[in-house]
Amino acid sequence: MQELFLRLPYSFRTLLVNLYGYGLARNRYGGSFNERLKELLETQWIPQEKIKQLQFASVKDLLEFSYKNVPYYTKLFDEHGLKPAHIKQLSDLEKIPLLTKKIIRENFEDLIASNVKRSDIKLSHSSGTTGQKLFFYLPKILKYQINYAVNARFYNWAGIKPFDKRVTLGGRLFTKHHPYWIYNRAENQLLLSIHHLNSETVDSYIEMIEKFSPKFIAGHPSGVDFIAQRLVNTHKTLPLKAIFTTGETLTDEQRQVIKKGFGVDVFDTWGLGESVASASECEYHEGYHEDSEYGIIEFIKTEKGYEIVGTSLYNYAMPFIRYKIEDIAELIPDGQQVCKCGRGLPLKFRRIIGRNDDQLTGLNGKNIFSVTVRMNIKPFLMEGETYQLIQTSKKDFTFKIASSDFNPDRNRAFNNMLLGILGDKASINIEVVNEIHHDGGGKLRNVVNLTNK
Ligand SMILES: [Zn+2]
Repeated sequence: MQELFLRLPYSFRTLLVNLYGYGLARNRYGGSFNERLKELLETQWIPQEKIKQLQFASVKDLLEFSYKNVPYYTKLFDEHGLKPAHIKQLSDLEKIPLLTKKIIRENFEDLIASNVKRSDIKLSHSSGTTGQKLFFYLPKILKYQINYAVNARFYNWAGIKPFDKRVTLGGRLFTKHHPYWIYNRAENQLLLSIHHLNSETVDSYIEMIEKFSPKFIAGHPSGVDFIAQRLVNTHKTLPLKAIFTTGETLTDEQRQVIKKGFGVDVFDTWGLGESVASASECEYHEGYHEDSEYGIIEFIKTEKGYEIVGTSLYNYAMPFIRYKIEDIAELIPDGQQVCKCGRGLPLKFRRIIGRNDDQLTGLNGKNIFSVTVRMNIKPFLMEGETYQLIQTSKKDFTFKIASSDFNPDRNRAFNNMLLGILGDKASINIEVVNEIHHDGGGKLRNVVNLTNK
């Protein structure tokens, strides 16, 4: 499908992106979106103690529902002699065993509520930032209107309104060559392909952004940082209101460069496709406010540090209760989770800890963002597989894949796909392994470059 799409002429691709964009915009911003956003803009000011009480009432409803209607939780609670009534306060949640990706895969059908209407839910999968694909169901209303209302509240913290003119520097594959952008009318949005951003094209990106004159840019920190670096080097700037980053961990260095290059504040947000919890920076940038109406963030102490555990308050289709997210955070202790902005939403953590993926250098000498690697590999992965692509010299690469089902056909397919990203003359050594060892931090790094160390 994707290959076919990419081969179409630019005008056809623009048309299809716009048709798809209108459909998405209707799902995202239709129905209850406006009401939800209005409500979220009010509830953010509720005092923190009260917010926690409301959160507890929500999670109680979810627990009672799940015990009654979700076979996995009925069994789990019974096995542990637990009843929803035993959970008397938020801190009692720790009595409930954690939910892991492995458990979800092994109990997929039993995790679906028996009384859910299949037409109200949508099969989704995680973005694979840890390299491990996971399938799950989300209520459509959560996937679209609720997620987008929560995001719109975050944008509001930077003075941005829904449908303000914007540039998205994203990972979607919509072109193979120039032009590297498509205008999506439904969201008043210029989509820029991060995959073609390099030292030769960066000036054309800057020119295009200048011409479009957006209120803000949203994108992966690595791509936004690349453009900002060029602005710094050429003493240029672009008149924007804000920059939003997501999808990768924003480093302090990137934040400095982006601020300097664009001359505006960077607002970072943290969340995941599983839609269990999210947290974002406000205008004071002192940490990440939990979106408390949406999900509960807890921390568990492991040998890696404080790992985030999330509970979705809106997923009644396939409840994720105490889901182990595998992100490590520098937490803000209870009692200190207040912010100068006065919002009651607790400031849960200072930052996400962990090393980021590296950039690679292709055989043509141009940089390759890790998001390009991740996006291209994603369609080839099977559930539960993890991988790591390592550049060991200018032209040598090792691709490790932890898989129990790898055959010569897949080997060939992976090899061709990787040659497409890295360059025809790249030498790729594919290693099938049982497990890929983490080198610290929460997430497995998918892309490692050993040549610039
Ligand atoms: Zn704040």
